[in-house]
Parts: sequence; C-alpha cells; structure tokens
Amino acid sequence: MEKPIIANKEVTLHIMRSFKLRTKKKLGQNFLVDEEIVNNIAEAAELTPEDTVLEVGPGIGTLTQALAETGAKVVAVEIDRGLLPILDKTLHGYENVEIINQDILQLDIKQALGEKSFKVVANLPYYITTPIIFSLLEQKLPIERLVVMVQKEVAERMTAVPGGKTYGALSVAMQYYTEPTLVFTVPANAFIPSPNVESAVVVCKTRTKPPVDVDEEVFFSVVKAAFSVRRKMLTNALKNIGISGEAVTAWLERANIDGKRRGETLSQEEFGRLANTFK
Ligand code: SAM
Repeated sequence: MEKPIIANKEVTLHIMRSFKLRTKKKLGQNFLVDEEIVNNIAEAAELTPEDTVLEVGPGIGTLTQALAETGAKVVAVEIDRGLLPILDKTLHGYENVEIINQDILQLDIKQALGEKSFKVVANLPYYITTPIIFSLLEQKLPIERLVVMVQKEVAERMTAVPGGKTYGALSVAMQYYTEPTLVFTVPANAFIPSPNVESAVVVCKTRTKPPVDVDEEVFFSVVKAAFSVRRKMLTNALKNIGISGEAVTAWLERANIDGKRRGETLSQEEFGRLANTFK
C-alpha cells in the first residue's frame, strides 16, 4: 500500500490527533507540512542509495520519509521518547531507516554511523542550532555535506561576507569548516505549529582542508576577541585575548593589518594571518 505523505497539513494533524500529541516548544518541535519544501531539502542533499544520512530530530518522520524514499540509509536521532511510537507507525515499512532515541549532543556518532562518510540533513530545533552544527563539525567526522534548516537570520549570518552587517564569529567559523550557501527561505506557515521567525535552508559542503593553515585554538581565540566588542577597532577589541595595548599594536604590525579596522571587515585569510603572528 502507498504510504501517505506526512508533509501535509491534514495528514500531520491527523497523526497528532490520533496519538494525542502536544508539541514541545522547549524541544523546538515545529513539524514541516509542505511537501515541496521537504522534497527540496532532500534533493539538496543529493542522496543516492549508496549514501548514509544522519537526520537530527525526525519528529513525526516528515523529512525522514522523503530521505528514506531516496533509498539512502537513514539514521535518525530523536531526543523525545514520546515520539517513538509515532515514528514506529509513520515509518513502518521503510527498512532503510534506523531510529536512535538520544540527545544528538550526547550520542557517540562514530559508533552509531561507522567509518564511512555520510551526509547530515535536518530541520534543526532552533534552541540549539549552533551547538549541534559545531558539535558535528568539531568532531571531525567524515561528513560530506550538511543540509540544515535554520532561522533565516542565522542562515544569513552563516553565509555573510566580510563587511556586511551580519558578518561575525559565526560566519568565520562556518566558513572555516564548510562552504555554506543559503538555498531557499521557508515561511513560518510551512510548519505546525508555526514558529515566530522565517526559516532558511543552508547547504554546507564540508571542506577537505580549511581555507587557512592555522592552530585552530589560536585562530578561534582571535576571532572571538575580534568580535567581542562590536564596532570597535581591532586595537581595542584584540586586547580581549588577554594582552596589553602595546602588544596588540606590535602584533597588528607583524600581521600587516591596520588597527583602525574592525573585526567585521576581516577576511578568513586576514584572521589566519593574525593567528599565525600571535605571540
Ligand atoms: N524533522 C521534523 C520535521 O522536519 O518536521 C521535526 C523537526 S523539529 C524542528 C526538531 C526535532 O528535533 C524535534 O522532533 C525535537 O524533538 C528534536 N530534538 C530537539 N532537541 C534534540 C536533541 N538534542 N537531539 C535530538 N533531537 C532533538
């Protein structure tokens, strides 16, 4: 029998009513109800039956279903135990789906996914969007690409270029690990319940090699200090790394960067130069 498409308002409401499900705001439970959007997300992942895909937060199985239809192996990690009986029912018959009831931030992903490279696809819970993304990236897992739905404002910051209003530490960090592209925006009414923000889907192709050759700890300390005080000159902001004004001036000279500039204008390469000339 053909499975009904879950990414549909009536089907979703029917599932929620049948299981007397009340969505949990604190877990960021906003379910997609637009089939076209769900299909576009799955398409952006470019999945084949040879792929393995990690889905964070399957909810009632909406996106999981579209991912499973590609024939890829789907490992979906859901923190809310209450959703398990629903997933059991909605994804019944999809032999290529494995559900793990865990907090994604606690899961041993290497053990769960094995050695093979994989893709990540998720309509992320917005209360922990960046912790989830950076936990995945910092673990240096063999991730080929991430396709994530996030708040539009976060998507804009991830993909911002130097000099723009939204460029900050998040942009530098995301672009250090990946090449992110905002592929489309999603209105609030594509979800039940509707979140009070617009959303966007970002495709992040992971880099095989970072764009700059640096000591990561130093690099990220420099980035953090540069953006620690918005709209302040580097001569002031960089003191927050824990050194004197004189030391900052000498450092900026070594890096050949004008101290009157602001962190918001520095490229990845310039942050790299600062990291490599820090003493
Ligand atoms: N994938 C579904 C969809 O697109 O309709 C649901 C997405 S909903 C925005 C986010 C899901 O992530 C919820 O099901 C929520 O319970 C789950 N979640 C929240 N925090 C989580 C965590 N730390 N680990 C795993 N799943 C989590």
